[in-house]
Amino acid sequence: MTYTPNSLVKSFNESATLTIGARAKKLASEGKSIINFGLGEPDFKTPDAISKAGYDAALGGATKYTAVPGTPELRSTIAKRLTEDYGVSFLPEEVCAANGGKQSIFHLFQVLLEPGDEVIIPSPYWTSFPEMVKMVGGVPKILSPKGPRLKARELSEAITPRTKLFILNSPSNPSGLYFLEDELKSFADVLHENKIWVMSDDTYYALVYAPQRWTSILKLKPELRERTCVIGSSSKSYAMTGWRLGWAVGPKPLVDAMIKVQGQVTSSPSSVSQAAVVAALTSENHWAAEFRDRYSKRRKVVLEALRAIPGIQVPEPEGAFYAFFDLGQRIPADKVTSFCGDLLENYGVCLIPGEAFGCPSFARLSYCLDEDQIIEGVKRLGKAIAEWRA
Ligand code: PLP
Repeated sequence: MTYTPNSLVKSFNESATLTIGARAKKLASEGKSIINFGLGEPDFKTPDAISKAGYDAALGGATKYTAVPGTPELRSTIAKRLTEDYGVSFLPEEVCAANGGKQSIFHLFQVLLEPGDEVIIPSPYWTSFPEMVKMVGGVPKILSPKGPRLKARELSEAITPRTKLFILNSPSNPSGLYFLEDELKSFADVLHENKIWVMSDDTYYALVYAPQRWTSILKLKPELRERTCVIGSSSKSYAMTGWRLGWAVGPKPLVDAMIKVQGQVTSSPSSVSQAAVVAALTSENHWAAEFRDRYSKRRKVVLEALRAIPGIQVPEPEGAFYAFFDLGQRIPADKVTSFCGDLLENYGVCLIPGEAFGCPSFARLSYCLDEDQIIEGVKRLGKAIAEWRA
């Protein structure tokens, strides 16, 4: 008998970024010259000292299951790192490490949401948020701000009696937007007053560009602590995507529930990756800051190149490594996805269409490439736009 997708599988879309990225990799493996701005993945190698810590751990016999939420050493290292960086104190027992931040987010939704619960997700949003909400029977409520930055009043108006959770992702994938302290504070007041849970997805917190500096919503409104789950990851800040190690940090009863789920689903994350992440987070070497400085230089190159294309509106990213720009003056919103397909197949440039992030006239460019490739890729993009016919 052939397989028929069940109602769960039918309820959500596959990851657009992974699908397009896979196509770009396939074309490259066939020998085509591809500039891949698609994947949200550092091009840097994991620093050798981090890899060595993983290697040494494996040779030393750390190849067994660990406790479900991670080794005591990893949990206390994450708690300590966040306590220092956030200026808010966290305890090891409030930490659950998992196979990537993605897994932590999914487990959070599983233990928090009841069917029909609404989750407010400001757009543009990371493509996996609404799909994961749907997978557990929740209802994603996309909040599209009128202007470029979400206002507390808009957040307040989006709240209904069914609202359970607000997703904050700053710096943001896909836009690189980073909320300033007074913006965060105004959101925090609304969320606290309405007793809404918060998922603060801080995957890119170490990649905030000067003159801005990282501030957590929890520092500004400690009262939110009992209803906030922080999500973090080693993937982007330490160039460790393949190690698959992320974490959730929140109130102990919530984290205990996530551990209960994880214990039945995957048990602990990889023992070797855990050892490597301890090295990453405790090191005197400020790898994340070094990577951030290198991205910051690339950001300049990207902005200059993109802004030279007539009719392209490019806001300056304040964090992460994405440029998210409006093609609307040159390409109608309902044609951006097919334009991106044409761009990949005929010009060898991979961009992610904004439809995947709730903004159909936009496209996302990940500048995890060296400067020459960035310049060549944006040149090809300019040519494709100039030659585009509906
Ligand atoms: N959150 C955001 C906003 C992301 O962009 C990503 C990865 O792209 C993740 C979470 C998950 O990262 P990982 O599962 O690699 O830790």
